[in-house]
Order: sequence, then C-alpha cells, then structure tokens
Amino acid sequence: MDTEASTTPWTASPSRALATEAVHAGRDDLASLGLHAPPLDLSTTYPSYDSRGEAERIDAFAATGARPEGPPVYARLDNPTTGRFETALARLEGTDSAVAFASGMAALTAVLLARASVGLRHVVAVRPLYGCSDHLLGAGLLGTEVTWTDPAGIADAIRPDTGLVMVETPANPTLAEVDIRAVAHACGSVPLLVDNTFATPVLQRPVEHGARIVLHSATKYLGGHGDVMGGVVACDEEFAATLRQVRFATGGVLHPLAGYLLLRGLSTLPVRVRAASQSAAELAGRLTADPRIARVHYPRVGGAMLSFEVYGDPHRVIASVRLITPAVSLGSVDSLIQHPASISHRIVAEGDRRASGVSDRLLRMSVGLEDVEDLWADLCQALSGPSALPPRTTAAPVRESRPVGL
Ligand SMILES: *Cc1c(COP(=O)(O)O)cnc(C)c1O
Repeated sequence: MDTEASTTPWTASPSRALATEAVHAGRDDLASLGLHAPPLDLSTTYPSYDSRGEAERIDAFAATGARPEGPPVYARLDNPTTGRFETALARLEGTDSAVAFASGMAALTAVLLARASVGLRHVVAVRPLYGCSDHLLGAGLLGTEVTWTDPAGIADAIRPDTGLVMVETPANPTLAEVDIRAVAHACGSVPLLVDNTFATPVLQRPVEHGARIVLHSATKYLGGHGDVMGGVVACDEEFAATLRQVRFATGGVLHPLAGYLLLRGLSTLPVRVRAASQSAAELAGRLTADPRIARVHYPRVGGAMLSFEVYGDPHRVIASVRLITPAVSLGSVDSLIQHPASISHRIVAEGDRRASGVSDRLLRMSVGLEDVEDLWADLCQALSGPSALPPRTTAAPVRESRPVGL
C-alpha cells in the first residue's frame, strides 16, 4: 500500500482531482450525445426484436455479472442512469466499480449474501456500527454469524469460514475511529468492509488504506438533501459482478430517479462536506468549552458529524431545538439532531449499546450548511434550562423515559 496516501493530494486519474471528478465523472459521454444534463431512463423493460441476442445478453450476465452491453433487457439487471452514479462513485472512492442498491441496508444485505453464497457466513465486526447494521449481523436474519471484537482482536477472531470483517469509521454515533491500515493488515486475505458513510470519499478513501469493500448509505451525504434513499458498494470489479448477480436475484435495485438525484448530489459533495465540516469543528470546539457538556466526540478525520454527552436531560434538548431539526438520519444540507439510545441505536440491546460507548446522555448532531452562529445560538438556547449544569459531585444516571421498542 501507498504509505503516503493520507498526506498526498487525491487523484482518481493522473490528471483529475476529486472536485473535478465530482462534477464530471459519469458524464463523460454527455457532450457527444448532445446533452448537458444526464438523461433519466425510467424504463422497466427494453424492447428487442432479437430474442437470440437477448438470450446471449442474459447468458453473459448470468455467467459474468458484468454490466450488459447495450440495453439491459430488464430494469433489475441494470439501468443507465443509475450506472452513471455508480461510475462516478467508483471514481471518487478510487475503485474499479460500484453497485447501487435501494438503501444502505440493501447494500449491506447484498454483501452478506454474496459472501454466504460461497459458504463464508462468519463475520468479524467492531462496535459501534449503525444500529440496523448491528441488528442485521447480530439477529442472524441472513444466516450469518458474527463475532464482535475490538480492532486488536480481529486477527484472533478470524476463522476458516470468515467471509468478511466489518468496521465503521468514524462510527455511528460515537465517531470512534478505527485505523483502517492496521485493521486491513489484521484481516489477511479476508476482505475488509469499511462503512464510509460518515467520512465520505472527500475525507477518507478506505481502499487507499487496504480496505476491499466500501459501503455507503447514499441516503446521507451522497444524496445530501434528505430526499433520496439509496445505498452503494464500491469495490473491485470481481466482487461487483457478484453483487450485481445478487441484486438481480433479490431485487434490491435503486430507483433510476434516485440514481439521477445521487449523481446530482455527488457534484456538490466536496463543497458540502468541507463547508459543513468547518462548522462542525467550530461547534465541537465551543461545546468542549461549555460547562453544560460532559464530553464531546469529534473525529480526527473531521467531518460534519459530532456527538456530545450532556449533564442535563438529553430529551429536553431534543424538545427544545428550533432551527435544528429533531430527526434521525444525517448528511442533509440542514442540521439534524437525535438521541441515539432512543432512535438510531434503539434496536441494539441496551447492554451492547452502552458497552460500545453509546451513553444514554449522548446526542448526535449532523451539521448542515446553516450559518454557524445561528446553529450555536439554537444549541445554546436548547441546552440552557433546569439541571443543564453538572451537579457538584458525579452526574446522576439519566432515566430512560421511552418504552422498549423502535
Ligand atoms: C443510515 C446508515 C446506514 C443504513 O443506510 P440506509 O440508507 O438507511 O439503509 C448504514 N450505515 C450508516 C453509517 C448509516 O448512517
């Protein structure tokens, strides 16, 4: 691996930088088509008078999983608009290929099914993960078996039937960071999946550090406007081919309109992520100095996500914000805040949740593009109120006020 990767400027090709790829990748043919905006192809089927030709295309897809040449026969095989988004995301992550799905969870499901299909059902994973990823691995819904470990325990946790090692960095919701290079080394020949939803390729490209598979909830920063749900896996072409076959057989396809919106979202990704990260770093600094805050979590890699533990009642803060929207999800142009123990990580068993650092006093904030002073003013008014300051001795535990269940 290139040991300079984290300090040298990013290039997807010898000549094009990330910001350039963000607005041009997946669109290279448009001028030759006489178009400026990408076309949106909503077809579910593709007419052909040549059944023998169609048979050959279906056989080729079944044999190789490569994207079909020419019209894709049926929309579950491929879609040209979604294909543009896949091409662009692969360029940004520095991978051969990318395969898009209906949601981040559909993308993770396809990865697990692809590994299970070759008999490798065991997954080694590091907590915390996004709540539903934790649930999908732990509940055995897909017949996978998981061993939870810390990064130092990965090598020992790997078995002959281990098909995947999974980490999230920075992790949802604690922003805990994993040294991708060290973990990739510990994986040996087992593929390492990094959920890169929080950092995005603007701040971190996991394959440069040895990861083989990069997962995104495209619903978050890639879309960036809170109006499109999708997921995507960036990886080598060999694994992408298997993922396309799984997608074809199981049907978790991205809608072409979502593909269109995600391609559009990528064009502003670098600008959005950098601007929001600047505000998030500023807010993290101010919160760290604030006596109402017990602890602030902000990752070294930066980014627009931060979380913090309050001395007072976290539910009161959620009830008191006015500019910041109290809602789950993240990565939109506007700021969101939520209480992970009640919402995003509710589905993780209480003991596991707490052991992985998701305190009942933790609030997670997705910083948007509002003026930082307006965000600070809203946070300040929401944080002020009864029992906002630390008691003189140690903080009393927060009583859970919500019933069990999601
Ligand atoms: C939201 C999220 C997911 C799941 O993605 P969906 O698009 O909601 O299915 C996975 N990983 C992380 C880190 C997330 O934040």
